[in-house]
Amino acid sequence: MTQFLHRDPISRRLEELISEREALAQFPSGELVAVIRDVGFSCDLCSRCCTRAFNGHVLLLDDDARWMIENEPAALEPAPVLDFCDQNGTLYAPAFTLRSVHDRAGSCWFLEKGRCRVYTNRPWVCRIYPYMLHREPDDDGSVDWRQVSGLDLHGSYHHPISLEDAKKIAADVIAFESAVLDHEIGFLEYTRDFFAQNGLQHSKKVYNSQVRRLSRGGTVAVRVFYRGKFEEYTVKGNVPRRK
Ligand code: SF4
Repeated sequence: MTQFLHRDPISRRLEELISEREALAQFPSGELVAVIRDVGFSCDLCSRCCTRAFNGHVLLLDDDARWMIENEPAALEPAPVLDFCDQNGTLYAPAFTLRSVHDRAGSCWFLEKGRCRVYTNRPWVCRIYPYMLHREPDDDGSVDWRQVSGLDLHGSYHHPISLEDAKKIAADVIAFESAVLDHEIGFLEYTRDFFAQNGLQHSKKVYNSQVRRLSRGGTVAVRVFYRGKFEEYTVKGNVPRRK
């Protein structure tokens, strides 16, 4: 094992994610089905969920990213979660995301006149939204499962949802959350091995310098985890482009 492995929190993060995956596998799906039916969410087409102001970035798993690369590569950029930076100044992102159009709300690249123009091919996370199943700390710091995003902040509620439909939604949510954990674990394991094999180390000092460079509109190299390996990008300020 390398110094990177022993000193960096990567091993602890891996343990946490593996534990989360085990907890997810044991979560009683009937509980999520009951929540889905109880909440009875219905979209009212406000389109707020398609903005970074409301929801942060859209995480793209490999199949979503592949569709974008094949159909609209300009919509992609490295996710703004740059976990690591090596001593040479290259940053590492766990996945791709969708670009925003840089309006005040940070609207999604595909949001046009309040509608998704790739609705039938929208990413998995958009298909299961607003449902989720992962643990997060609340405002008081106590960690518990969250099952509905933005409850009472968008959409309308208490619409009837059949047991059959709720079961399908719950199964899809659990499958998505499991795939996200698999992806994150894959990213950390691959990064750990990539650093070890290439004599790289995470540098907080260089990381801070590169983030400052980005904030001033400078150019940095970013490796994005995609389909089990890294894709090389250059990012200039907020405008990334493929090499
Ligand atoms: S891809 Fe479509 S559904 Fe998903 S955030 Fe963008 S506009 Fe909204």
